[in-house]
Amino acid sequence: MVQPPGPLAGDASHGDAGASASHPQDGDAGGALAGDPLASQPPTFSDGAARRILRDGFGVTGSLAALAGERDQNFRVDTADGQRFLFKISNPADTRPVLAMQTAALRHIEQVDPGMPVMRPIPTTAGEPWAEVPGPDGRAYPVRLFTFLPGRTVAAAELTPAALRSIGQVTARLGRALRGFFHPAADYEILWDITRLPALRPMLGHVPDRARRAQVARVLDRFEARVAPVLPQLRAQVIHADMSLNNVLLGEDLQVSGIVDFGDMTHAPLVCDLAVAVADVLHGREDTVGAAEVMIGGYVAVTPLDDEEAGLLADLVAARLAADITLTTWRLGVYPDNAAYAADSEVGAPAFLDSIEALGLDAVGERFRDACRGLPYRRSATAPLLERRRRALPRSPLFYDHPVHLVRGEGAWLFDAAGRRYLDCYNNVPVVGHGHPRVVRAVAEQQRLLATHSRYLHEAIVELAERLQATLPPSLDAVIVLNSGSEANDLAWRIARAATGHAGALVTEFAYHGLTEATHALSPEEWAAGERPAHVATVPAPDGYRGAYRRDQAGWAERYAAHVDEAEAGLGGRGVAAMFADPAFTADGILAPPPGYLRDVARRVRALGGLLVADEVQAGHGRCGSHLWSFQPSGIEPDLVVMGKPMGNGFPVAALVASSAVLAAVPEEVELFSTFGGNPVACAAALAVLAVIEDEGLTENAAEVGGYLREGLLALQRRHPVIGDVRGEGLLLGVELVEDPRARAPAAARADQVTEAMRDRGILLGTTGPAGNVLKIRPPLVFRRDHADRLVNALDEVLAAPGR
Ligand code: PMP
Repeated sequence: MVQPPGPLAGDASHGDAGASASHPQDGDAGGALAGDPLASQPPTFSDGAARRILRDGFGVTGSLAALAGERDQNFRVDTADGQRFLFKISNPADTRPVLAMQTAALRHIEQVDPGMPVMRPIPTTAGEPWAEVPGPDGRAYPVRLFTFLPGRTVAAAELTPAALRSIGQVTARLGRALRGFFHPAADYEILWDITRLPALRPMLGHVPDRARRAQVARVLDRFEARVAPVLPQLRAQVIHADMSLNNVLLGEDLQVSGIVDFGDMTHAPLVCDLAVAVADVLHGREDTVGAAEVMIGGYVAVTPLDDEEAGLLADLVAARLAADITLTTWRLGVYPDNAAYAADSEVGAPAFLDSIEALGLDAVGERFRDACRGLPYRRSATAPLLERRRRALPRSPLFYDHPVHLVRGEGAWLFDAAGRRYLDCYNNVPVVGHGHPRVVRAVAEQQRLLATHSRYLHEAIVELAERLQATLPPSLDAVIVLNSGSEANDLAWRIARAATGHAGALVTEFAYHGLTEATHALSPEEWAAGERPAHVATVPAPDGYRGAYRRDQAGWAERYAAHVDEAEAGLGGRGVAAMFADPAFTADGILAPPPGYLRDVARRVRALGGLLVADEVQAGHGRCGSHLWSFQPSGIEPDLVVMGKPMGNGFPVAALVASSAVLAAVPEEVELFSTFGGNPVACAAALAVLAVIEDEGLTENAAEVGGYLREGLLALQRRHPVIGDVRGEGLLLGVELVEDPRARAPAAARADQVTEAMRDRGILLGTTGPAGNVLKIRPPLVFRRDHADRLVNALDEVLAAPGR
């Protein structure tokens, strides 16, 4: 720790190898240091005297080469038969219990992890851990002999990802090896112990630069408020506590070949070992935070960290850097003659702390937490990635002028490659929140246990089917588990034709039901100009704001429903096999249907001999607030229900639920099966999602927060004439933008501008509706009131601005 960093010659790196009590002792905050290496000179035994001590004490003869040492006198010993040792004459000031602890720790490590690259203490010929020899000053000098470790110290910039990972792994292994170690001297208190950071406050005055001093004070304040209260709850043991660049030797392959200097060993939270390694190995690099993630990944591959430990790691790294800065400048004040040494020794710590502050300690904390979870994500540069995507996937659509380059999500938040977070107000796939731990666990565990198709007997698919049935009217008693909404609608269409003998379909004018040939035909939203399959007829969606019949007109629900009969006439005599309807009419502009509308539609479709398919892919799974399924408030019983998208919280899974009477129309010998459909992993995901929705009360939350958000949006409407209409249920809300409230001309370009400007403010929205002028608000159902406030406030600002 206290040695100057830098690429020292291999041998020189052993100068501090023998564990010296080399740091300021606690309580010395004001003046000169009893235990500081700069306070006392290393011993100066002659080569001849050293050789005699070595021979008499350890029975070893050989040539001696002096090595550097701040406080001890060190020699490399080469014997005639080719053996190499480290011979150390310690400073007489070193306390014997601490020396005894170091020897005991090295022996313990040797016993529990013989491959660990640490020095082995070699006993004296009398079998003692060390000998004491009188010096010229009459004081007793402890002398010790150790095996010699190969390798050299390297500069931070030289460390490759493999080397960083190796340092992380070895740090964890060292902690493991010391796990069962006890020694009465382990309560040894030193200021370098991160947990003692508050003791450095009196030294802050020594930090000459005012901005730097304020920065260190900020770290201290945060440490006292957030870290110190939690520390006593963490796993603690004896740790090395000084995995710095000077104390880690690397071989030619840049893997760790030696760990030296056990002089800071103390009883402290285990995670402090990793924090020191991150802080003290990486400073001097440009990419400190990224390199830290690699090192952390190495550590947790050996020893996973608890959530509490992981959550504190960034603060502990900052604390160590703050200690580096404070103790270095403080020492400079005490020993001005050693300015060069002090300035040299911690030159990278301020830069590292600056880079953490530039990103934000919370953001770095998040990244470290992810790295602790073993979730290192790739972070390619955005522009070249975009270019590659455009070349490799020319027809894959991307949102935004400058696409959002995402790397992870959590709850209602998404994070981009630069660490910026976005409030997700758009995505219904992560219905229970991005990365919900219960779903993640269910998927991971099931993937490990069994992942096969559904033609074997297995609980998950049965449980899922029963669970879905229990949420639906009793007539819907037959479940088919599939992989996508398109596939489920496609099959629904096949079944409807078989069951009715008819060949025509009805859909709303801007509906979306899927990507396959059959479902594309049912999706006017996606039809090319002039495209209109002959077997499909459209009905106007019940738009009470801009459609043919308005909310304030009596009988508007019936008038819309009556279009079913009219449309049937357009099917060229094919007859209605089914009407497909998203009960929230999302693609049509998010239209909560008027009371009685769906019931009337169902009655008319059935009177024509057709089936009603409720497409719950968008609006289902609790989104609309009052019920799990969006058709339920209308009181209808659809003939077929299709669900998908949010069903697995991102894991592909969909389902079709019908009555067995309807299904009977498909001959028995026709197998209704898809390889991945209903596989145990998909079913585990779907079951976890249903369980979370229920246990966390997410349907109720959608109603409650959705209602609150709707009020906020209505308040905005009163202030911003560009908002023509606010509508929807639960957490599926539409905000229709118009050129002016009277003429109601759709303001589509403005809607696009608004979504872009909201993205600039860290909020993700979409647009929908035939004119694309309806802001689509469809967040994960873990959305809270404070998220709603954030959305409304940002929208307020954006709408107040003249446009981008
Ligand atoms: N139906 C509706 C109502 C949808 O919104 C979608 C997807 N947007 C689908 C069906 C198709 O589902 P998938 O994309 O999973 O095939």
